[in-house]
Amino acid sequence: MTKLRLAIVGAGPAGIYAADILLKYEKQFDVSIDLFEHLPAPYGLVRYGVAPDHPRIKGIITALREVLDRGDIRIFGNVLYGRDITLDDLKQHYNAVIFATGAVRDADLRIPGIELPGSYGAAEFVNWYDGHPDFPREWTLDASSVAVIGNGNVALDVARMLAKHADDLLPTEIPANVYDGLKASPVTDVHVFGRRGPAQVKFTPLELRELGELRDVDMILYDEDFDYDEASKTAIASNKQVMVIDRVLQQWRQREVGQASRRLHLHFWAKPLEVIGNGKVEGFRFERTAPDAQGGIVGTGEVRELPIQAIYRAVGYFGSPLDGIPFDEHRGVIPNHEGQVLDDDNQQVHGVYATGWIKRGPVGLIGHTKSDAMQTIQHLVNDQANWWSPAHPEESAIVELLHSRGIEYTNLDGWHALDEHERGLGELEGRERIKVVPREEMVQISRGSLVD
Ligand SMILES: Cc1cc2nc3c(=O)[nH]c(=O)nc-3n(C[C@H](O)[C@H](O)[C@H](O)COP(=O)(O)OP(=O)(O)OC[C@H]3O[C@@H](n4cnc5c(N)ncnc54)[C@H](O)[C@@H]3O)c2cc1C
Repeated sequence: MTKLRLAIVGAGPAGIYAADILLKYEKQFDVSIDLFEHLPAPYGLVRYGVAPDHPRIKGIITALREVLDRGDIRIFGNVLYGRDITLDDLKQHYNAVIFATGAVRDADLRIPGIELPGSYGAAEFVNWYDGHPDFPREWTLDASSVAVIGNGNVALDVARMLAKHADDLLPTEIPANVYDGLKASPVTDVHVFGRRGPAQVKFTPLELRELGELRDVDMILYDEDFDYDEASKTAIASNKQVMVIDRVLQQWRQREVGQASRRLHLHFWAKPLEVIGNGKVEGFRFERTAPDAQGGIVGTGEVRELPIQAIYRAVGYFGSPLDGIPFDEHRGVIPNHEGQVLDDDNQQVHGVYATGWIKRGPVGLIGHTKSDAMQTIQHLVNDQANWWSPAHPEESAIVELLHSRGIEYTNLDGWHALDEHERGLGELEGRERIKVVPREEMVQISRGSLVD
């Protein structure tokens, strides 16, 4: 019987769902899958993006883990495609590869002053509070007033993590240094800015509602932002999600405020112009916008300034190019047709596929990566005639290659060991888990139980 030896690069939800779907897919051949992951632990942004106070979403890890634990997928963690393994290596050992490498960088916001000390990308902050091993463990939290630019869920995550009292994060898996940093933060005011109006936001109702439940944090809204135009009224009347968002905001407008020690302000109709400061962030300049009656916005010419000491841009994530693989610099994705990777002449690159955020761009929830993977897998299966013919398809060959290069890879047993270790650390303090952060420590704990 034909055997498909498949490599998947990236063990985030997209990569794991792709493996799961392929194994369950009705097909005329055997399948053997190896997942390569840069981090010593799997799950991508579910572990290193989803906020620690979203345990329900983090719980998706349980479902992903069940897929890995079935025992028919091998995982090689701590292996970086482009450095530890190359496209040539994959061609030697597999019939095809799926790239599921996601998007981990901040998109740019090109305004003067954005490079000042005190101006950060949301992804950097997320990497800090979620304990990503490859980012600095120090984070400066010395601002009393902070601006967050963006009107998507990541902006809400950042604003919530900044405004929330550290003690309310204690039951979560946050590393100790993150608790200490947030505990010492002098923040009193977090200002979230969107270019458009309340009826055009990109956040989802659940995430918005959560802000209003923060202990000792007042939600502040401004009447001038709620003078709805016809387009906004239509959006509210015709779209259930927008309707709920409007309802939540209107409830907050009626609330008594003034008692809380912290405030979370939502500003709409504000286009970023400049981060002001002399050697450090001192203020934010923006232009008031207005609806243009066609669903867009126009500047009103009215410029305002707000004194702040730190600013976070949450204007989107961006994918990274991969060695030997076509890349769309403009969109930050691998160019593809329904997951089949395309070259510069729009021709299919045989044997190479994409799924998840690197396929479709950094939008959408974890669940969306499932339908994405289904589409990619369908093509992979139908493309059998164009698969690669590897010289070393045996499962032992890739292991020998990694050994010969001295790569300290982690495997599924290693992840189990790390997982247990982290749960043990948590148990000591009555918490579900405390994350191990340094990469070497993660690798050591994982490889302590390496069975190979
Ligand atoms: C801050 C933030 C919060 C979010 N919160 C939620 C939420 O609450 N609910 C929700 O449903 N969705 C949320 N999302 C969206 C969700 O995280 C994504 O939809 C999902 O993670 C995308 O999956 P992916 O597998 O494509 O990418 P990723 O999750 O990014 O996984 C990609 C994996 O590939 C690995 N990789 C990258 N390059 C290489 C390489 N060269 N070699 C080897 N491995 C590599 C990475 O280490 C990573 O593990 C959030 C996203 C962000 C950024």
